[in-house]
Amino acid sequence: MRTAYQYRLRLTTAQQSTIDQWLELGRRQYNYRLAERFNWYEQNRCDINACPLICHLPELKDRPNFYSQKRDLVNSKKWFPEYKELPSHTLQDVIARVEKTFDRWLSGDSNGKRSGKPRFKGQGRYRSITFPDPVKPEHIDGQLIQLPKVGKLKLILHRPLPDGFKVKTATITKKVDGYYVTLSLQDSSVPVITPDVPELDNTIGVDMGLKSFLVDDSGNEIKIPQHYRKAQKNLKRLQRSLSRKKKGSNRRQKAVKRVAKAHLKVSNKRKDFHYKIAKKLLSQGKHVAHEKLNIKGIAKSRMAKSTHDAGWGQFLQILSIKAERAGLLAIAVNPNGTSQNCSGCGTKVPKELKDRIHVCPECGLTLDRDHNAAINIKYLAVGHSVNKAQITSDAIAGVTEKPALYPIG
Ligand SMILES: [Zn+2]
Repeated sequence: MRTAYQYRLRLTTAQQSTIDQWLELGRRQYNYRLAERFNWYEQNRCDINACPLICHLPELKDRPNFYSQKRDLVNSKKWFPEYKELPSHTLQDVIARVEKTFDRWLSGDSNGKRSGKPRFKGQGRYRSITFPDPVKPEHIDGQLIQLPKVGKLKLILHRPLPDGFKVKTATITKKVDGYYVTLSLQDSSVPVITPDVPELDNTIGVDMGLKSFLVDDSGNEIKIPQHYRKAQKNLKRLQRSLSRKKKGSNRRQKAVKRVAKAHLKVSNKRKDFHYKIAKKLLSQGKHVAHEKLNIKGIAKSRMAKSTHDAGWGQFLQILSIKAERAGLLAIAVNPNGTSQNCSGCGTKVPKELKDRIHVCPECGLTLDRDHNAAINIKYLAVGHSVNKAQITSDAIAGVTEKPALYPIG
């Protein structure tokens, strides 16, 4: 099992400037290697065999890849000796990142999903560096962690590292309120639990709504917490204040920092809320069925803002990770018809977004709209008969995808 713990670092001024310098070097290297790949791409876009005219392409260059770019680091170090100060594997990780983002753009990830064109990173936009080598247990001693070439860093061990885990990699991230280290941990001794087959009595359905954060199939509602709204209001106020400041002024710079801190606070609060809800849901010991989110589709609709605010994508990722650890499933079902169909008899009862109550003309079932949807979602996940008419092979959209790693802490 793989997991990640994040700890705050307390760095000396000298260590801070070292990390800042490394981040900047990492950023330049990243941009340079990205440019190398873009150049290759621009020059080789036309398929030679299909070129209709006398070939006008310049001489073909070898396609830069991880290995060729890694070999070329020798030259980086020759021309810019400061690169010798970075641990070499950390520098190689920069190239691995370029490779990953470039491939994601050209050929997509394991699910064939392509991401956007990689962007060059502006000053201060390269925020983390990775130490890809395992950290030996003796190098984490109480409040200190020893990493290559920076030496011992003080960290705030707000919770102990779990027993039996090996630290596979360490990543230092610079956030607006300081430096953090994320340790990715692996424990091969934890067996993978095979979850039970989802059935009516071991599964709950949840509908993620606009009015509340979610409603489960018993009608329990989880509201978006007030303190989170408050933090958001504060953020808006700071953003307005920022927009009034003159460009390039000292006051503006300070305002930018305040806005960034407020953003971090909002996102921390949101994440904390997501963890709590995931824990609460899974504490019942049941599988959780939810709608498959079509983030791209929603982003275009008028629900975009509230999706972003509620952060359902992040919540579902957290839910699926936590579920796996508990030996449970987070099941994504196809959202077609979940809010329209009657959970009592399966009749389609068309309603608009503003209609909050589901009233069935066939069987007389009257329920809150989201509650009705939650029941339908549960039925879809377990293959219950009310929705048999629509259960097809694509009803279950699959077990929720989870990211490779998600810092927890
Ligand atoms: Zn009905």
